[in-house]
This record gives sequence, structure tokens and C-alpha cells, in this order.
Amino acid sequence: MFRWSEETFNHAKKLYKQGVRTSVIAEKIGTTKNSVLGKMHRNNLTKKSSKNRRNTRHSQSTHYEKHGEAKCWLCNKTYITYSRFDRFCSPCKSRDFYRATT
Ligand SMILES: [Zn+2]
Repeated sequence: MFRWSEETFNHAKKLYKQGVRTSVIAEKIGTTKNSVLGKMHRNNLTKKSSKNRRNTRHSQSTHYEKHGEAKCWLCNKTYITYSRFDRFCSPCKSRDFYRATT
């Protein structure tokens, strides 16, 4: 029966942080992949904790800061839009013409 010693744990931890797959680590230290995964998880070493995953997804879905590029309807220049309702670049937005039409 495999037992985790500080030595094997440190060894596994090092490999794990280097991005070595858990199945490979398991083979090297003589245990199972699940054992390695469990050990890493219990010591908060797993890269994708549910908390991190949620944060990543959240930041990726926040498109309002930079929506994308679009062509201005007035001057035809490419500019960064901040929402899909954006139709004009900032210089055009400040123009009297734009103000007059809204
Ligand atoms: Zn413009």
C-alpha cells in the first residue's frame, strides 16, 4: 500500500507545478493518478479550483470594457466599440451632427 511521505509529496508537488500530468507523476512515485490528484487537491494545489474557474469565466464574459472593433457610421474609421449599440467613434459622438440627430 502506497503511503505519502514528505519526500514523495514534495517530489510530486514539484512535478505537478511544472505541469507534469498526474498519471505520469503517479507512475514515477508508485501510486495511482487519483491518489496524486487527491493529494494535490487536499493541499490546494490543483490549478483549476472551482473558484478560479468561475472568476475566469466571469472576466471573459465581461465584454463591456472592450466590445470589439467597428467602423464608425459617420467617418468610416475603425474604432473600439464598448457595446453593440455603439455606432460612432468618440470624436464623432462629440460632434454637433451626432447631437443633432439624437
Ligand atoms: Zn467617427
